Amino acid sequence: MPARTGRHFLQIPGPTNVPDQVLRAMAAPTIDHRGPEFAALTAHLLEAIKPVFGTTGPVVIYPASGTGAWEAALVNTLSPGDEVLCFETGHFSTLWQDMAKALGLNVTSVPGDWRHGASPEELTRRLAADSAHTFKAVCVVHNETSTGVTSRIADLRRALESTGHPALLLVDTISSLGSIDYRHDEWGVDVTVAGSQKGLMLPPGLSFNAVSDKALAASKTSRLAKSFWDWAPVLEANRRGFFPYTPATNLLYALAEALDMLAAEGLTQVYARHARHAAATRAAVRGWGLEVLCADEREHSGSLTAVLMPEDCDADELRAVVLERFDMSLGAGLGRLAGRVFRIGHLGHFNDLTLAGTLTGVQMGLGLAGFPADPAGLPAALKVLGAR
Ligand code: PLP
Repeated sequence: MPARTGRHFLQIPGPTNVPDQVLRAMAAPTIDHRGPEFAALTAHLLEAIKPVFGTTGPVVIYPASGTGAWEAALVNTLSPGDEVLCFETGHFSTLWQDMAKALGLNVTSVPGDWRHGASPEELTRRLAADSAHTFKAVCVVHNETSTGVTSRIADLRRALESTGHPALLLVDTISSLGSIDYRHDEWGVDVTVAGSQKGLMLPPGLSFNAVSDKALAASKTSRLAKSFWDWAPVLEANRRGFFPYTPATNLLYALAEALDMLAAEGLTQVYARHARHAAATRAAVRGWGLEVLCADEREHSGSLTAVLMPEDCDADELRAVVLERFDMSLGAGLGRLAGRVFRIGHLGHFNDLTLAGTLTGVQMGLGLAGFPADPAGLPAALKVLGAR
């Protein structure tokens, strides 16, 4: 590798760039996780995190990646052989379905073209046809990180409501929490799954379940095997400010700092900033003459943009050139999109000039890789960023 100067541009859609103040917070000495100082930290965090989820209910924090929180959502609410309805909107929703199957659930998958979000109309159809109420849960990924498509959770909840079906609604917000407007309580979500390494601006290593009263009630009778993921002992220990195991203390310091930063900016402003950067990115993509993968104007992601390459261009070649020449990491195409798309992450600790630099790197990379791209892309993005 050649010597590098300046900061690496980490423009994958998570893990995201960790702010200096979060890194500094993490560097504080680890304290006794059974002492009074730790209890005060836990009490603070468990309250401070609620607004980010849009909830007044409990949030369970795990020292785990997002995949762990997926498992926690399933094993705490469901029993062996339960039927679950899963929307296949991309790579991550597919992995979640696979996990549900591996845990002994019966998955009905609603297929998708990976360019649209979960369809509220389809949800109505599926649940209306299930008059025996065999589906115990509906699983949706809010923001599909593999496609840059954001499903409309409020509309999905209305669809569910319209059928009077009692299924639980389980939603993955791993790449939307803290970046895209999200309302656990208002949208009647039963379990919200989240991770630390994207909009929350932390390194990987923490994940979350926000839990509704209905989900909590379901957990009392759910029979899937669980031990580490069991909400009950965590909630019980949390009441005293502790965890039933050794927590990731330094990541919790980081979380406290990141939540302060989000609160200081204001969540409305945080969501508006992400939406604006997403709009500027789409202006660049279209200016280059390339296609945004998301095919529905209502479903563009605020946190990342997946760019579809022309048939004869390998997106991984572009990513390799951009990494080599400009020390910038772009997101790879995942699953069936491998080589077909690259993904620009514009979430977390991010500002106008970071985006301008990112898009400049992509535009230069397209030229160096010999891919046809109109240089009008970058000015189109700058126009969005420079607008009053
Ligand atoms: N769900 C979504 C939407 C994701 O983007 C990811 C990871 O990027 C996951 C789930 C899996 O999370 P993790 O890799 O932290 O286990």
